[in-house]
Amino acid sequence: MADVEELLAQLIRIPSINPRGRAEPAETPLAEYVADWARGHGMAADLHEVVDGRCNVVVTLPGDSAETILLETHLDTVETEGMTVAPFAPTVADGRLHGRGACDAKGPLAVFLTAMADLARRGPRPHTVVLAGVVDEEHVYRGVLHLRDQGVTRNGPVVGAVVGEPTSLRMVTAHKGCMRCRITARGPGGHSSEPWGRVNPIATLAQVVDHLTGEYAPALEALARPLVGPPSLAVTMIEGGTGPNVLPESATITVDRRTVAGEDPHAVWSELRHDLLTRWPEHLEVAEPHIVDHALETDPGDPFVRAVGDVLREAGHDPEPKGVGHGTDASKIAWDGVPCVVFGPGAIAQAHTPAEFVPLAELHAARGVLDALLRRRIHTGAPA
Ligand SMILES: [Zn+2]
Repeated sequence: MADVEELLAQLIRIPSINPRGRAEPAETPLAEYVADWARGHGMAADLHEVVDGRCNVVVTLPGDSAETILLETHLDTVETEGMTVAPFAPTVADGRLHGRGACDAKGPLAVFLTAMADLARRGPRPHTVVLAGVVDEEHVYRGVLHLRDQGVTRNGPVVGAVVGEPTSLRMVTAHKGCMRCRITARGPGGHSSEPWGRVNPIATLAQVVDHLTGEYAPALEALARPLVGPPSLAVTMIEGGTGPNVLPESATITVDRRTVAGEDPHAVWSELRHDLLTRWPEHLEVAEPHIVDHALETDPGDPFVRAVGDVLREAGHDPEPKGVGHGTDASKIAWDGVPCVVFGPGAIAQAHTPAEFVPLAELHAARGVLDALLRRRIHTGAPA
């Protein structure tokens, strides 16, 4: 197998399942392997503990300029239950490499590392290149947040970042954020044979759901953005009641509100809370959001974005910026003013699936894109 295939196979052999809050150093063996591999190819590499012995890895390759291109991707994968291919024994069939993480996101990691190794071997290196492999993207993003705390997303300065995720080789410059919270209705409870005059929390929530889906959500259409469309709201969970003949004392729904650029998820929550508590001033509680994430919207005219587009066009790929619905680490890196694009081989539809794979042709094509991008002088857009 060619070097990028061989490295990807090796990365898949090292399990790095996100422990979702359990205290396990899940990604650290992979971080150590990446650091050793990078050092063996003439680069500097360090591990940084984020939480519970779980380590980010940062690989640095100095260039002619301190201006830095940041390559960021995540080390963790989702679970392997129900997989129909061997999760950690990569196999190749029909031009596809199968295994957990093949596209999400060890494919991009193998592309970044082998492109940097090639750059270390033979240049030219107009920019410093920093690769960050981070933990916990599949849970609560602690890896990328730690990276920001360390200043890795600012130092250089960073002229642009490529965030490695499966995008079928498209340049993704926009995605939605989210705000998820629970809404609880309360009542006095009692015997269900005598419901008269008692507030039933389930009936209250029925009205709330009606309002959210019939009035609140349609009004979001007006906030549509070009690449990702309008924000949305869906009621995703409902629970309540203790027995078939008991009036419940409480019932709870969970709402998943997807945000677009320009919306602050915390402000979205307070406005939603204000709206609901104005309509149902008694018996309703709107809990603090348990998950918030910002949207991404990178300026398509930024020199880094234009450079990525030029490289894609020259290689015969679609250079148009694209928007997607799911979140990535990019929106956190973009807080520091870094122009971010999300890019990688394989399709998001393949991520988290029982037979996850990456097409080998896309793996090599992504490597070609990185080879060209890392050799390009970003401020002029001309090849170095
Ligand atoms: Zn991913």
